[in-house]
Amino acid sequence: MLNKNVHTFIGCDAEYDKAKIVLFGAGYDATTSFRPGARFAPSAIRNESFGIETYSPYQDKDLLDCKVFDSGDLELSHVNLFGEICGRVKTVTDDGKIPFMIGGEHSVTFPAFVCAVHAYPDVNIIHFDAHADLRRQYLDDPFSHACVIRRCHEGDIGGYEFGDGRIFQFGIRSGEREEFLYAEKHTHMQKFNFDGLEEVVKKLRGKPVYFTIDLDVLDPSIFPGTGTPEAGGVTFEELRKAATLVCSSCNIVGCDVVELAPNYDPSGVSTAVACKIIREMLLAMS
Ligand code: MN
Ligand code: MN
Repeated sequence: MLNKNVHTFIGCDAEYDKAKIVLFGAGYDATTSFRPGARFAPSAIRNESFGIETYSPYQDKDLLDCKVFDSGDLELSHVNLFGEICGRVKTVTDDGKIPFMIGGEHSVTFPAFVCAVHAYPDVNIIHFDAHADLRRQYLDDPFSHACVIRRCHEGDIGGYEFGDGRIFQFGIRSGEREEFLYAEKHTHMQKFNFDGLEEVVKKLRGKPVYFTIDLDVLDPSIFPGTGTPEAGGVTFEELRKAATLVCSSCNIVGCDVVELAPNYDPSGVSTAVACKIIREMLLAMS
C-alpha cells in the first residue's frame, strides 16, 4: 500500500490525538516595514527541513521519538489574521497541547499571545530579537511588527491587563530611544546578548511562559534571509544554547519562530539555520 503525500516538518508526523506539540504556519508579512517575504517561510522551512537530521547530537534526542503534529498553514489576510491565529491557538491549547507557530513576520505573535494570556493569566514573555518592537505605532499601524511587544504589554486591544516586569527581552540592539526608555520602565531588557538568561529562567521556573524568537537576533552574516537585517547579532551556537535552555527549563505554553524571509538568501543557509533551531526547540520541549 502506498501512503498519501503529506508535507510536514521532518519527523513531525504524529497523530493529533497523541501529539504534545502542534506546529502551524502563519505566513503573513503585510506590515513588514522594510523588505517583505516572511510569508514564504513556513513552506521553505518544511521543504528544507529534509536537509537536516531528525536526530540531535546536542541533546541525544530524535524527533521520531517525540510527538509533534504539523497542522499545516493558515491562510491569512490583514482582515482574518487575528481570528485565524487565535482560533488555531485556542483549539490546540484547549486540547492540552502546546501551539508552536512558524511565522511570518513578528506581528503574528500578538494574536497568539492574546490567546495564551486568556488561558494563562499569569503568563510571562521571553523575547529574543535584534529589535525592541516597543513602538506605540508604526506608520499609524499599532499592529505593525515593530510594535508587537508593546501590544502584548499594553493589553488594551487584547482585552486584558498586563503588569510590568513580565516581559524578558534579549539580544536587542535596535530601536528608537523612546523604546529603550519604555523598556526601562516596563520590561526587563538585556541588550546585545543573552547575559542573565539563566537567572530569568530560574525566576520563571514553573510559571507559564510564551517564548517568541525573532530570528534577526542572529548576526546577518549567518542569517541574511530576513526583512530587517541588523548587524552585530548573536552566533548560531549562542542562540541554540539559549533557546534550548528556555525550552527545556520553562513551562512553555506557546511559542513562535518568526521573520525568516527565505528569498533574501538564495544560498538557503538562513532557512537551514531556522530548521535547526526549530528542531532543537521541539526536542528540548519534548
Ligand atoms: Mn521582532
Ligand atoms: Mn527583529
